[in-house]
Amino acid sequence: MKHGLMCKIIIIWLMTLTTGCNSAPIPHFDADNAFLYLEKQCAFGPRIPGSAAHQQCRDYLVSTLQLYADQVTTQPFMFTFGKPAKSVTATNIIAAFQPQKRDRILLCAHWDTRPWADMDKDPKNHNQPVIGANDGASGVAVLLEIAKILHSQKPEIGIDIVLFDAEDAGEYNVDESWAQGSAAFVRQYRGKLTPRYGILLDMIGDADLNVYKEGFSNEYAKPIVDLVWQQAAALGIREFIPEVRHIVTDDHLAFLKAGIPCIDIIDFDYPWWHTIHDTPDKCSPASLGKIGAVLVHLIY
Ligand SMILES: [Zn+2]
Repeated sequence: MKHGLMCKIIIIWLMTLTTGCNSAPIPHFDADNAFLYLEKQCAFGPRIPGSAAHQQCRDYLVSTLQLYADQVTTQPFMFTFGKPAKSVTATNIIAAFQPQKRDRILLCAHWDTRPWADMDKDPKNHNQPVIGANDGASGVAVLLEIAKILHSQKPEIGIDIVLFDAEDAGEYNVDESWAQGSAAFVRQYRGKLTPRYGILLDMIGDADLNVYKEGFSNEYAKPIVDLVWQQAAALGIREFIPEVRHIVTDDHLAFLKAGIPCIDIIDFDYPWWHTIHDTPDKCSPASLGKIGAVLVHLIY
């Protein structure tokens, strides 16, 4: 009797081991390929809503996501910005992976770039556009590489990747002038998309990466912040620092206001923010790779 029970325990243990061996490995995030996506976006030039480069980049993002996602839709909306004010069509891009799955995570980033380098040390550059290697292209680059991975190995959960337009043409003292793409998205899709949680990537390409917890995220979606920082710690990625440092108005706020937990992974200590020097040489594949690895482990 005792011996028989022992045998059963050993058999169950062996079965568990075998099952473990059969489960697919966690996919590798190709940091160099992600960096190519960053460079490709910058090669279009500044992606200012209404410009030719903006349209070309939009088409490139849509066609790239169409290679990998089950459904790609666009959400055009009217966007007014600048002085004198002009109205243009801005476009959110939405890519669904395994849309039949109810249990979902939403990953997002903004793809537009700031029309004015108004934080540049040289005032002569304040009306020059920003290339946005970090502020724009970096988050999108990681998500395009994630899209490729989702296509090659399907995870248990459904994923929506949303690229927001019209994030970065705001006035510093007018909160609602920023992040208009995410506001338009939440207005249209509230109740239709009900992710478990959302993760926003913004300015995560800095070669000198230091990702502190963001204040709004930590206040209104703390369990998700903890989940992400614990995952980074488990992977030994020390660039995720478990302290709150900045409070940032960004695309996650529209979700938080709608009661959807969404956190902002952002490295706001970037000397080239809103300057003409936010170029690919300030970013690194290694930084994209660290963010990507954390996301891939969360998804799989
Ligand atoms: Zn910005």
